Amino acid sequence: MAVPHNVSARNRLQSFGLTMIVMGACFIFYYLGLFGTVEGPLTPARIGTALSALGMTQCHVIVILLSILIAAVSWNWIFNLTSLLAGHRMTCTARPEGADRVCGAPVKRTSHVSKRSGRRVVFYVCACGHKRPEAHFHPLKKGTVSNTIWLACLIFMIIAVLGA
Ligand SMILES: [Zn+2]
Repeated sequence: MAVPHNVSARNRLQSFGLTMIVMGACFIFYYLGLFGTVEGPLTPARIGTALSALGMTQCHVIVILLSILIAAVSWNWIFNLTSLLAGHRMTCTARPEGADRVCGAPVKRTSHVSKRSGRRVVFYVCACGHKRPEAHFHPLKKGTVSNTIWLACLIFMIIAVLGA
């Protein structure tokens, strides 16, 4: 299936937007003193003092950031795996006669036990009545917000690890 031009243009625009957001966030954190080069409220020494006052060690911070990072990276994989197993987010791959594109209607997964082999046969039926042994799965992709969250967690974790 060919990717329409406007989709690839939109993806490029999205990744450009993401880059700008990350760069902007880095500038803000830089001026707040996060990288220790500029004196500000987020200077690592000050964060360290504040956190140790709360009874938090560098190790706690790394573990918390790592859990957020893993969750932020893997949530859509888990969602996609669950959807795939449940037969959601799937569309019809049948190509009607004379049409230049596939049907694309949402399908329902059903199964029946074959009389000949006695085995369970899975197939997908769409609203137009097409019946296929397979369907096209549409995985959920991460948006700008998710990508920003995991990138930010990764950056903070590297800072925490280097400071440990
Ligand atoms: Zn169909």
